[in-house]
Amino acid sequence: MKQSRRIVVKVGSNVLTRADGRPNVTNMSAIVDQVAHLRQQGLEIILVSSGAVACGRSVVKPSKKLDSVAQRQIFSAVGQIKLLNTYHSLFGEYGLIVGQVLTQKENFSSRSAYLNQRSCMQVMLENGVIPIVNENDTASMTELMFTDNDELSGLIAAMMDADTLIILSNIDGIFTGSPDDPESTLIGKVAIGDDLSQYILATKSGFGRGGMGTKYGIARKLADEGVRVIIANGNRPNILSDLIFNSDSTPHTEFEPADEPISHIKRWIAHSDSFAKGRIYVNAKAAEALAGDRAVSLLPVGITHIEGEWEEGDIVNIFDDNSNQMGVGRASVDSATTLTLVGQRGSRPIIHYDYLFMD
Ligand code: GLU
Repeated sequence: MKQSRRIVVKVGSNVLTRADGRPNVTNMSAIVDQVAHLRQQGLEIILVSSGAVACGRSVVKPSKKLDSVAQRQIFSAVGQIKLLNTYHSLFGEYGLIVGQVLTQKENFSSRSAYLNQRSCMQVMLENGVIPIVNENDTASMTELMFTDNDELSGLIAAMMDADTLIILSNIDGIFTGSPDDPESTLIGKVAIGDDLSQYILATKSGFGRGGMGTKYGIARKLADEGVRVIIANGNRPNILSDLIFNSDSTPHTEFEPADEPISHIKRWIAHSDSFAKGRIYVNAKAAEALAGDRAVSLLPVGITHIEGEWEEGDIVNIFDDNSNQMGVGRASVDSATTLTLVGQRGSRPIIHYDYLFMD
């Protein structure tokens, strides 16, 4: 494997929790040992750790039946402390300092909030602190939550310019069929342009919110942006060290990164489509030009109509005339002005190429 420098490691609830819901301290301790080893080798590590809700369940038994939101809130509030306490003492044995980063979707929605969060984690890394990130499940509104921590880990990897994202779950990677079927084989390498959607099963297992669907979506997107993504089994002894130093003989699925990483601002835009304030619909000619290899901006002449209201600098989604989402961009013209320009030639771009990300 190409030399890594900064790695985001996402550890799922199924690795950190036993089948009965109690925290799996043996697995946590094994992950900590390996992260400490990677740190000694000079690598920077950011941990995205699930397990708060699962830990909370083992601590508090609510007196009456709670709805799913109240359960998530009380279990995460109690469990996050237990989770971080365990990490704090395990890393402490190596003299390593950990810091808690609790975040939520809104912290990625504006450029200023995004940069604020980025510099917070940057200063932690510069001072040798290992950031341990989780969604703020206590404060997050249900309709504004990340799909799961796989999505969050992708955002963190993109935001922090990580060269590698390792997603540890309770499965070796992506198989050509059900992992329980002896006929299925593990897909080792995934090249740019490979589409594995036919192999992604809709089922999910255990305690986490995520499944292979989100893992695959995140992995494909990040690899296209220039980040190497590995999906592997966190229950395998020594998995992290093996992946980094001895990857050929270790079962995993690896998405090879695009040769030319996209710019930092485009990365932010690429992960911002759920914050869009409006929609721009383009005609077939513009759709073809935008999807092509040349660096083109979105001009008023290619727009058929728009929906929503936005200010200059807001994120908008781009659709073709069959209403398929094609991309996302940062508008350099507000919606009211855009409306007056729709279909016109010779006007300045509504989204400049530097602020445009096509799927
Ligand atoms: N944030 C949740 C927790 O710590 C996990 C979300 C997920 O399963 O991806 O319990």
